[in-house]
Amino acid sequence: MDESALPEDHPRYESLVTRHRIEAGVDRGITSRQGLIAQGRGEAFDYLLGEETIPTADRAARAGVARLLAADHPVVSVNGNVAALAPGETVELADAVSAALEVNLFNRTDERMEAIEEHLREHGAADVKGLTADGRIPGLDHERATVDADGIGAADAVLVPLEDGDRAEALAAMGKVVVAIDLNPGSRTARVADVPIVDNVVRALPAMTAHARELAGADDGELERIAAAFDPDEALAAAERAIREGEF
Ligand code: ATP
Repeated sequence: MDESALPEDHPRYESLVTRHRIEAGVDRGITSRQGLIAQGRGEAFDYLLGEETIPTADRAARAGVARLLAADHPVVSVNGNVAALAPGETVELADAVSAALEVNLFNRTDERMEAIEEHLREHGAADVKGLTADGRIPGLDHERATVDADGIGAADAVLVPLEDGDRAEALAAMGKVVVAIDLNPGSRTARVADVPIVDNVVRALPAMTAHARELAGADDGELERIAAAFDPDEALAAAERAIREGEF
């Protein structure tokens, strides 16, 4: 079924679109079957959050952008779910914060790496890292440790939308600033991130681009103030409250 055939007046239209994009991603060899499971987990949390961006998530998005803009070598990490859900939005954000794009897969195969690289190029990416694979993240097994030495290897700040907890922890242990988008405020990724954005990537990525455009002229002092004013523990607690207190 084509995305345009989905009923726009359906009360959960956005959720249907998201689900459909992941299915199409699997069919095209971009998203892994495990990605379907991650999607299901994400949908459950999004449902509990009312399928909208809570105010603290938007403040986190702004703080995350401030950290990326202040970095010398920011990198946006792209996996099969993100590539399927929001390829154009990912490329736009990377441009807006002058970050490199790097494909980084939990279940790495050459075919999927290449399919995602091509998909990102079709959505406007000029340069896509990840295929050189000449760097390692210490503390992870070979396949999951593989990165580009001049990409995530050299990054001082990494945006990880939907990252697995082990790798987020390993990136933080390398001293990198970790900005994570994850709908589960209790996930290890959210807990280890310097800036956890508890929101759906389909909403968070364009919101971050809008913040980046607004902050384009900000000096280092202002970026530092925005980043320092953000408290990750408070943001996670607010997301948990929103989940507990939501009415459905
Ligand atoms: P961790 O290893 O961090 O404790 P996990 O084992 O649940 O977490 P995975 O299953 O690898 O991690 O990743 C799925 C994570 O991504 C889940 O936390 C899920 O809520 C989140 N997720 C899935 N889809 C989306 C989405 N569209 N936007 C944001 N987050 C999402």
